[in-house]
Amino acid sequence: MASYTPMILQYLEIKKDYEDAFLFFRLGDFYEMFFEDAIKASRELEITLTSREGGTDERIPMCGVPYHSAATYIEQLIKKGYKVAICEQVEDPKQAKGVVKREVVQLITPGTLMDSHTLTDKENNYIASITSEGNMFGFSYCDLSTGELKVTLLDRVEDCFNECALLGVKEIVVADDFAEKWGPILRERYGVTISLQKELDDETKFGARIASLSHPEEKAAVIRLLSYLYRTQKRSLDHIQEALYYQTEHFLKMDEYSKRNLELTETIRTKDKKGSLLWLLDETMTAMGGRLLKAWIDRPLTNEKEIQERIEFVELLKEKFFERQELREKLQKVYDLERLAGRIAFGNVNARDFIQLKHSLKQVPDIQSIILGLLSSPNKWETSLDACEEVHNLLEKAIHDNPPVSVKEGGLIKDGYDVKLDQYREASRNGKSWIAQLEQEERHKTGIKSLKVGYNRVFGYYIEVTRANLHLLKEGQYERKQTLTNAERFITPELKEKEALILEAEERSIELEYDLFTEIREEVKTYIPRLQALAKAISEIDCLQSFATVSEERHYVKPAFSEDRKLVIQNGRHAVVEKVLGMQVYVPNDCYMNPERELLLITGPNMAGKSTYMRQVALTAIMAQIGCFVPADAAEMPIFDQIFTRIGAADDLVSGQSTFMVEMLEAKNALTKATKNSLILFDEIGRGTSTYDGMALAQAMIEYIHNHIGAKTLFSTHYHELTVLGEKLPKLTNIHVSVSEERGKVVFLHKLKDGAADKSYGIHVAQLAELPIEVIKRAREILVTFENKDETLAAVIKEPKSQQPEEAQLSFFDVEVSDEEQQKQKLILEKLKNLELMQMTPLDAMNALYELQKMMKA
Ligand code: ADP
Ligand code: MG
Repeated sequence: MASYTPMILQYLEIKKDYEDAFLFFRLGDFYEMFFEDAIKASRELEITLTSREGGTDERIPMCGVPYHSAATYIEQLIKKGYKVAICEQVEDPKQAKGVVKREVVQLITPGTLMDSHTLTDKENNYIASITSEGNMFGFSYCDLSTGELKVTLLDRVEDCFNECALLGVKEIVVADDFAEKWGPILRERYGVTISLQKELDDETKFGARIASLSHPEEKAAVIRLLSYLYRTQKRSLDHIQEALYYQTEHFLKMDEYSKRNLELTETIRTKDKKGSLLWLLDETMTAMGGRLLKAWIDRPLTNEKEIQERIEFVELLKEKFFERQELREKLQKVYDLERLAGRIAFGNVNARDFIQLKHSLKQVPDIQSIILGLLSSPNKWETSLDACEEVHNLLEKAIHDNPPVSVKEGGLIKDGYDVKLDQYREASRNGKSWIAQLEQEERHKTGIKSLKVGYNRVFGYYIEVTRANLHLLKEGQYERKQTLTNAERFITPELKEKEALILEAEERSIELEYDLFTEIREEVKTYIPRLQALAKAISEIDCLQSFATVSEERHYVKPAFSEDRKLVIQNGRHAVVEKVLGMQVYVPNDCYMNPERELLLITGPNMAGKSTYMRQVALTAIMAQIGCFVPADAAEMPIFDQIFTRIGAADDLVSGQSTFMVEMLEAKNALTKATKNSLILFDEIGRGTSTYDGMALAQAMIEYIHNHIGAKTLFSTHYHELTVLGEKLPKLTNIHVSVSEERGKVVFLHKLKDGAADKSYGIHVAQLAELPIEVIKRAREILVTFENKDETLAAVIKEPKSQQPEEAQLSFFDVEVSDEEQQKQKLILEKLKNLELMQMTPLDAMNALYELQKMMKA
């Protein structure tokens, strides 16, 4: 049997190490794919599948993409969650003996994108790693494009998933056994790419980056992640910062469902940023600021001092309109320093990036003076706004103001920067001016006015004489080079000599320019930590000015923080709904809670504004805890440690999640994890099951929160019957969204008032929706029968809860029982419990039963 050609054998040898990636195999001007890769890629990329001889009888499937347009194809594959291994020729084909040597130079994966076209400016692109040892999980994440590297310890795998969801992680690096166990869930639920990293590099390789980490699992997670990044990227990753340990407890905790329900960074329905809190608050001027804003919204603070620091700065900026405007203009000119630092380290930066860097750095002194002008006392911005003057000066001196995109074709470096380069350029310039003079001289010598000196790539410099004038040349004056239809082209030895000089000088200067550029890049590389620190300062300032801008435009107020668990919001609004509806249309509402008023039970018809009101309170808390002003006339609030939101299954718009089970799981989450410092929003919980079931569950949950947790809770319900709980639970207050009825039709006022809603209005809403009149009429009749039933139900709910479980059960036998009766029943139950059935004959049992019944009847 014939065997594969050497090239195919080489392909297979390389492919072996990249089973889970498309191998882009460089062949001349194309990247080719073979075998299975080719079949799959032709389908995914909609390119033609061909085949080639490979030494065996069967032809090998093949498809390819041109080298120069490969980027778009790679992007398509990465977006679909695939990986692409770039395999280049690593020796000059002309010099190669046998098959040209090839190597994979980079593995591009969803979590390791560096290409500025593929990355979204205002979004991070995270890759994470998880390691586990017993009940301890190390979770580390990195944005390769910015160099951010963080790590934490978590004690449940769900918490790791939660972090992944919160950060929008694209790729997770794990060990085999972890991938086997959790890979499918991660892939399905979060759409992440799973990557394996079996071998861990020696920790000495990462030195300072992991020096501050103490716990072995933290270290292991970071080492796994870095090992993977170095293995796949195969280059300097000097921009990756020291691993920063964080604790989820230091931030306001929200699980992924709560975050989604509150539409913090994207809407539930469209998954768009538009319509989210992030969209509302984003007045950032830089890409870095945009990314930080999202991170801030994802992790509101819980430390009052840190919150105050932000808020006070926002206040300053809010009041100084002109300074803020100026600041915004300066910020707008600041380029994405974080990603730029990444590309400098990565080695794919060009001269245009450097010009942008220069312009950015030029803004820094102005930004600093605006900021320092606002603040009187010494502050952190004095040092953190570091203009990196040396870098600015270097770039100013070295790089042309309008350089080309390519760094390999010259035109990058300014005159006067390098002596040698200047000499080459001088030589080339001299040569060119000699040639320019030559034309004059030769015209003069020969008397041919139309004589020209020209240049083309193939023949170089030449003297051109039209056919009509050829007779004016002396025999052997020039050397004939090329004949055209009506002219002849000539050369002379001096011309060739000068030409060689010019071309050599140009070639040398292009090479030298590239070398100089690389040197400058290496020099700037040493400033990466300073550039990153500057980027951090700028992005913080950008976020804070964004808060100030929005707060001023939308008339927000500075929140105060209450020590005594009070929550007072006067004329509060739902920030996003208000923006969408318009300030005039939105009806503001108060919210008042304190230690005697912990639970608000909200009733009111559908569409009245219950859900909006509840979210309004949560969003106000979040805005305050990220350091922004809040949409209200006045606000005082506690600092919450966690926020839980659960939306009744029937209201849950997210497809696939609307099962009652999920609803209950989330409720469990809130009930088991909330503390008295948490905020719970339960919006029509219990809707996903039958009325009595649902109502019973809702009541039980309310009682549990009231008696055992004491968290601030907003509980909306369409179970009107639950409002009687107000009489039984002292810290529960009924409030309702008022409606007015005009000639039998309801008008929504969207106004919250104390007390329970007087009725449900469901039928009124149906009427508004213009259901057939017969349906409405019939529904009214049926309602009357139901309402009669409800009265008995209300009686059950109202019955004060007793402390003994036995007693609680008894109350089901008989709703109204006297103390004496209770004593008796208790005795009977006691007797029943103590019967030793196994020792009794059927007759004994019969007798005992008779005895008990007699007691009951007495
Ligand atoms: P519910 O939960 O009671 O069924 P929603 O909170 O979903 O009602 O509100 C229904 C609609 O009413 C919202 O889409 C919004 O347009 C409008 N709405 C809610 N609250 C207000 C308000 N305070 N002012 C103006 N319109 C509001
Ligand atoms: Mg609702």
